Amino acid sequence: MTAAQTIMTPDQDARAAELRAAARLLEPGVGRRRFLTATGAAAALAFAVNLPAAGTASAAELDARRITENPFTLGVASGDPHPSSVLIWTRLAPRPYEPGGGLPRGRVEVRWEVARDERFRRIERRGSATAHAEFAHSVRAEVKGLGSGRVYYYRFRAGSWTSPVGRTRTAPAAGARPGSLALAAVSCQAYHDGYFTAYRHLAAEDVDAVFHLGDYLYEYAVNATGGARNYTDRRLPAHFNRETVTLEDYRLRYALYKSDPDLSAAHAAHPFIVTWDDHETENNYAGGTPENDVPPEEFLLRRAAAYRAYWENQPLRTPQRPTGPDMRLYRRLTFGRLAQFDILDTRQYRSDQAYGDGWRTPGPESEDPSRTMTGAAQERWLIDGWRASNATWNVVPQQVTFAQRRDVPTDAFKLSMDSWDGYPASRQRVLAGAESAGVENLMVLTGDVHVSYAFDLKKDFDDPASRTIGTEIVTTSIASGKDGSERPANWENQTRANPHLKHYNGRRGYALVTLGAKEARADFRTVAAVTTPGAPVTTAASFTTEAGNPGLTPA
Ligand code: FE
Ligand code: CA
Repeated sequence: MTAAQTIMTPDQDARAAELRAAARLLEPGVGRRRFLTATGAAAALAFAVNLPAAGTASAAELDARRITENPFTLGVASGDPHPSSVLIWTRLAPRPYEPGGGLPRGRVEVRWEVARDERFRRIERRGSATAHAEFAHSVRAEVKGLGSGRVYYYRFRAGSWTSPVGRTRTAPAAGARPGSLALAAVSCQAYHDGYFTAYRHLAAEDVDAVFHLGDYLYEYAVNATGGARNYTDRRLPAHFNRETVTLEDYRLRYALYKSDPDLSAAHAAHPFIVTWDDHETENNYAGGTPENDVPPEEFLLRRAAAYRAYWENQPLRTPQRPTGPDMRLYRRLTFGRLAQFDILDTRQYRSDQAYGDGWRTPGPESEDPSRTMTGAAQERWLIDGWRASNATWNVVPQQVTFAQRRDVPTDAFKLSMDSWDGYPASRQRVLAGAESAGVENLMVLTGDVHVSYAFDLKKDFDDPASRTIGTEIVTTSIASGKDGSERPANWENQTRANPHLKHYNGRRGYALVTLGAKEARADFRTVAAVTTPGAPVTTAASFTTEAGNPGLTPA
């Protein structure tokens, strides 16, 4: 098929943007390992013009009476709360495990309602949104005109079907000084490694928002019995039993994850503020460089498919809508004067991992000052945002371990080249930026490693007596790594090698973070097992850090 034959949507503006994105693939520096070939560019172009634009009216409206099965199998979600608005989301899929979700092509008008009470007696806002087949029948509505710092309930209707009820909460007003703010941090939910029991418990917690720090899904094959879940009462379709590569693969994988009742309950209970890591696309990719030896243009097509499916399936606002293989995911949210959140994307713009990735002895390659974790634009945006901040707490939700982490307490130590340890100059610029911007209370929230850590962030990690600049709370996985253990095999080594490491636990779960005017508190909540359903949750450890005096103390 030639590019010309694939032009099919009437939205010329979005088409032009997609063509520009495809053209950008031709620029040097996008693929770091090879130059793009002419065939690669043609493939990228074909892909870009194949994607229909937002708001396309090319497909006919589907008669809602033709939806004869419940289309709300993937639940509801809300996200990115502002003081007077919140984003609500759902996706229609009567048969979520079938390509196309079991709906014919065509658009569906979906009505939504937002109320102050769970029974929808006091409806504050209502409207409608279009579910396009081209966007996997996902629905999003930016609900405006809401009161600040308030709980709201929302639901959708399509034809005669009504969605489950979601609960959300707007952010406090810009100048407000809320007494406290309760957050949860989660990451790494490999479906095939276990049940999302931690989410069931998180749904019952009283938090203002949940931060998802990446690895929302994994690209790896899921077998018929759901891997470690060991289903005996059902069989998953064979198309899940292969790695996700195409747009349809990623869409189906989101459907598998979103159909999980525990994940669904957590989304219905709290607004989510999401960012991705690697597995939403491919393990340990770096910018335009894939994990394995695949031509970069081929990888960028995969990245475009993964990013689009991410957009379709997450409660994100319009500025995050991707264009081809690009998506502006880093963004800022404020919760009155108590907290500013600078949500990072440390995947899309990073330099390739040094020394071929993995745990390596640091050296000139990893310490090259030109290496970047954020890209120059995001780094500038972060530090400029700190300069303008008037928040007590400056929180940075992001993906990979920020603090230095040696594997052994000897001079023969190695560092993880995929984490900030593989980009030390980039980390130093960020820390120096925080200091020069006058950030007093820096807190980094991290996922990725499938264990809980609590770190003091040091001005010089090699000198325990140097100033503590902030703290880092690393949340363990929801399920990745299966059951885990209280003390992983390297517990002794890592604890002795890193005096700024204050807590290390290898169980599954989530972290609760409460920000107050005088101190912040972190509670590490864990479950003993995920390969069997229903484990209770306990608090493994708690820490506080005082405002104006960074450093963790056991609570
Ligand atoms: Fe992970
Ligand atoms: Ca990861």
